[in-house]
Formats: sequence, structure tokens, C-alpha cells
Amino acid sequence: MAQRTRPVLFALILASASLLSIVAYAAPNADSVILFIGDGMGPNQIVLGRAAGGGDPLAMERMPYSGMVTTVSAGGEVTDSGASSTALGSGYKTENGVLGMTAAHKPRQTILERSLKLGKSAGVISDDSLTGATPAGFMVHVPDRDLSAEIAEQEAKSGAQVMMGYGRDAFVPKTEAGKTTGHDLVGELRKKGYEVVFTRDELMAAKAPRLVGLFDEDKAPTLQEMVKEALARLNRNDRGFFLVVEQAWPDWKEGDPSGVALDVLALDKAVAAALDFARIRGRTLVVVTSDHETGNLQITSPARLSALRAAKGSASQIAEHLNADRSNTTQVMAAYAGISDLTDAEANQVKTAKDTGDAIAALMTRRVGVQWTLGHTATPVKVFASGPGGERFTGNLDNTNIPQRIADTLGLGPLEGAQE
Ligand SMILES: [Zn+2]
Repeated sequence: MAQRTRPVLFALILASASLLSIVAYAAPNADSVILFIGDGMGPNQIVLGRAAGGGDPLAMERMPYSGMVTTVSAGGEVTDSGASSTALGSGYKTENGVLGMTAAHKPRQTILERSLKLGKSAGVISDDSLTGATPAGFMVHVPDRDLSAEIAEQEAKSGAQVMMGYGRDAFVPKTEAGKTTGHDLVGELRKKGYEVVFTRDELMAAKAPRLVGLFDEDKAPTLQEMVKEALARLNRNDRGFFLVVEQAWPDWKEGDPSGVALDVLALDKAVAAALDFARIRGRTLVVVTSDHETGNLQITSPARLSALRAAKGSASQIAEHLNADRSNTTQVMAAYAGISDLTDAEANQVKTAKDTGDAIAALMTRRVGVQWTLGHTATPVKVFASGPGGERFTGNLDNTNIPQRIADTLGLGPLEGAQE
């Protein structure tokens, strides 16, 4: 008797186990998501970052789930940051230059807008202009990423509780030749209850739950500081939040290995802070990806990536330490680029260069032993995930898959028409 019931029992156990797993998959795993985007950060840019950090895996590389993401825009073109932001924000392929709209210029709801609609809080952070394509693609719907005044208007109305980036100009009226254009969006934001800050010190002293930071680059907080301040505010909503964070600079530094490597490390510090926060809070998924690769970075034998370990800045930051006649080139390259055996020929290249930053970038490229071309490429980028729902971000994905998988993790239902 006991023997005959065993297969039945076994079948019952199997059936209930698979039912449980279906229920577990369909139910929201997390109530909050933090999405990081390294602009221009392809797989090899991450390799440079790891080398500059000392060689151990980065915090993003230690996240338990990972996959690859294709990035081409509508028509199979090499994507710009606008089309990729639209894909990551709302799940649509669009033409380069378009934000939050299909290629036919139909506006589409973004994951940030859907989160707000369903009672969550939302935040957007960039260490470049807040009206730039990557942050804007989550909040606005415009046919042209260069419409910065219109983008700022729409961002000010987005309802996101926290917005931080550079670029105050788009948010205040401009007077040219006696004619004033634009609105006082800073004033309007303050009327809506936002605390608006312009420097790191003001950010650190800020108290209000709704916050806009429009920083000057030389008085800006670090990306990690912005992330911590944003999380402290977004965490006040019991229904959770969606936060998107851009590290903007690998996209602008092809040809500058220490610059790219240190940008990846700056992103990784912010990611590490988010992972700490998520571990303590629970119910929080952290995703790290990129909008596209920039520079077709090739690392071929005999590359010497350890040459990046002692670099203390990007090529142009290192160049700022040169004196007027550049007589301290050898000392500067030893102290800030980590090159203590500079040859006379190399020193001369810097001393006689039209642009010292470019000369140092070229020198570092040779020393590290990498190769670059100019501009964006279609090289697939990485995606890393940690936390509940992280298993959705494995294997081979397209950038249009990412917002729907975030929506599934949060239990937000289908994004209208987005790719699954
Ligand atoms: Zn980009």
C-alpha cells in the first residue's frame, strides 16, 4: 500500500513545486529597482576599469547574474545615446536622436513614468547634463535630443521626486540681444516643493524629500554621493521606487585609457553603494548595463594594463599639472600618469604638442598597448544584476528587453507594446 501511494505522492510534490515556482515567477520579486548605465562602457572598458582598480573583479562584475545586450537602433544602425535610452526606458527601437518616441514619433510610456503612475517614487541621476539624451530618455518625449529647452520643461513636469545632473542653463530664462526666452523652471520647481541645489555643499545640507540638483561641474558631488542622497529620499516611499543613474563619460573619452578606466571605477563606486543599500533594505534589484560601446576598444597582445594602476586622472586632468613651459613633463607623468621611465622622445611629444591632453592620451594608449577608433560601435554590452528578479537579466538580451523585465520584476504589468 505504502509502495503504491509513493508515485502519487511524488507526482503531487512535483506538481505543487512547479505551481509554486510559477507563482513565484509571476509575483513581483522586488518593489524597487536601481538601473545604472555606463555611457559608452563596452566589455573592454570594464576590463580597463578593473585593471586601474588593482586587478580584482569590480563590484559590478561580482554581481551574481550577467548577460550580453545588443544595442543597434531602428534600421540596424549603430545607436546614439538617445535611441538607446529610449530602448532602455520604454522598450522601443527608435531612430537615432529621438527620445521617448517610436521611429514614427509616437510617444511611449517609460518605465519611470509607469513606476510613478503606480505610486512608486522615481529618480534620475547623471554626472553630465540632466537634459542629456541618457537621463532625458526616461522622462521626456521629443523628436530631437537637441531640444534642450523643451526637454527641461518636460523634466520639470515629470513628477520624479529626485533629479540630479549638470546644466543649470536649460532651467533658467536666457536673455540674448534684449530678448528673453525660456521659463524660470528653477522657480517653478521650488513652488512645487522641490529643494533646488547647485553645489555639493548645498546637496549635503539639503533636507527636503523632493530634490533637484543642477550642478556646475567644478562644484559637483561624486556620482556615489548623488546616489546615496537620492536613495535616502526615494526610500521614504513604502511602495518602493525606480532610480536610473548615468555615468556619462566613457562615451567622450575614446583614446584616453586612464580617463575611461577611472570613469568605470567612479561608476563602480556608485554601484557598490547601491548594492550595500539593497542588501540592507531587501526587495531591491540592482542592474548595471551600458547604452553602447564607444571607441572599438581593442586590447591585444602585448597590452600592459597594469600601467593604468598608478594613473590619477584622465589625460586632460594629467595635462592640467604641466607648467607653462612644460619643463615638468617628466615629473608630472611620473606623479599623475604612473610612468616613471618616460623617454626623452616621449617627453618631447608632450612638450611640443598642440594639445597636451591629446598627446598624453596617445602616449598612455601606446604604453597600455590598446587600440581605438572614433565614435560609437555596435559591440554588444554587458548587463549585470543582483537582487530579487536578477535571473531575468541573463543570456543574450536586446536593450529593448530590459524595461519590460524591470516591469515584470516590479509587478508593473506589460509596458504598452514593448518587446519581450
Ligand atoms: Zn551613449
